[in-house]
Amino acid sequence: METARLIERLERILPRYDRAAPRYTSYPTAPVWTDAYGPDDLLADLARPEQDPSAPLSLYVHVPFCRSLCHFCACNRVITHDAELPERYLDTLRREVDAIRAALPVERAATQQHWGGGTPTHLSPDQARRLFASVTDAFPMSPGAEVSIEVDPRVTTEAHVDALRECGFGRLSMGVQDFDPRVQEAIHRIQPVETTAALAEGARRAGFTSVNLDLIYGLPYQSVESFRSTLDAVLAIAPERIALYAYAHVTWVAKQQRGFERKDLPDPPTRLRILLLAIERLLDAGYLFIGLDHFARPEDELARALADRTLRRNFMGHTTQAGVDLLGFGPSAISELGASYAQSHRELPAWHAAVAERGVATLRGHRLSPDDLERRWLISTLICLGELSAEDYRARFGGELACEHAAELEALAPAAEDGLVEIGTDGSLTVTPLGRLLVRNLAMVFDRHLPSPADGRPVFSRAV
Ligand code: SF4
Repeated sequence: METARLIERLERILPRYDRAAPRYTSYPTAPVWTDAYGPDDLLADLARPEQDPSAPLSLYVHVPFCRSLCHFCACNRVITHDAELPERYLDTLRREVDAIRAALPVERAATQQHWGGGTPTHLSPDQARRLFASVTDAFPMSPGAEVSIEVDPRVTTEAHVDALRECGFGRLSMGVQDFDPRVQEAIHRIQPVETTAALAEGARRAGFTSVNLDLIYGLPYQSVESFRSTLDAVLAIAPERIALYAYAHVTWVAKQQRGFERKDLPDPPTRLRILLLAIERLLDAGYLFIGLDHFARPEDELARALADRTLRRNFMGHTTQAGVDLLGFGPSAISELGASYAQSHRELPAWHAAVAERGVATLRGHRLSPDDLERRWLISTLICLGELSAEDYRARFGGELACEHAAELEALAPAAEDGLVEIGTDGSLTVTPLGRLLVRNLAMVFDRHLPSPADGRPVFSRAV
């Protein structure tokens, strides 16, 4: 469907789909997890005897430190200038990595490693080298592994770029959010275009093969015109991937967002027009829509994975790695092992104390039931591949999709009428190009753990 027609149809139906919706980096989603799953459960899951030494691992390291607080931010971060905190963090992280390695019965190499935060480049270049060595001494990286990092251009130096390349990082993701000076002032993040462009250029010169920029729409003082200028500047930098997130007004998580005046936030129609403008500009500039909030150049791995149906999703976003166990290190990090999720303590002192006591710092988690496992497959297949095949369902679960999930298929009928999804007579689903933009809403019909609207508790941010 050509971009202008897609945008015109989206504009007509979007208000009906602008509601709170999970991002489905997991199923069940994190609010469902409880402390009934603790450190003993994680250690037992790590020690599963059936583990295949050749089964790859994916590693995530959470570095929680930042120099100053961006007022939109809902991440788990510690604002500090104290040089002692990162040193202590590195010691504890090494202990955590070693404890998790010791719990595994066999050595397993990693095909993916990602550092997020916080700001990983809050660490000095030498501290980054030390952290990388701690992780890879325990979990060697496979040849050709994907090694990526999130950086803040305001604190990332040439020496960081060189140290990261030396370690083997090849993908770099930068927070931008918006280049408009008034928006930057409101969100307490002054980051000139030149700083971002220079880092992108320096990273490419140093050998990084992929630069990703993160944008947010819905921030205070944003307008269609101001965001048009931001998009111009972003396209001039020509990143390989662009993530376009909706600003999540989640004041129950990020209290500093209460400082935003409602009147300064774009109203829903403006927010919608900014989103539509961004989609139109990015598609016209040759990026492909990968799913949820991600756009990539056609030659990018994610675009290729979308085309050959190997695209998957985990806590780090879209990935080309399917069925891989994920081990998370650092405060608030999440591990995904077979049929379990485990999350570590979010607060730095609690994480230090837990690692000192047990080696692992599990605060909560969830072991998936057979029904959870089935629904996880339904939701992730729908989101990543844009379809559900009755034949694949039968091969995997031994039943008929149209019978086993008749209620969900019925619930999708209005979306089918809106042109978001096609429903086959055998229950097979095909998400349309329009539906891919709203796939969180489609996936929600398969979610058995959604809080009831009667709860009145805000849990998820809005889908649009
Ligand atoms: S947006 Fe990034 S740099 Fe800003 S406070 Fe949050 S984690 Fe730190």
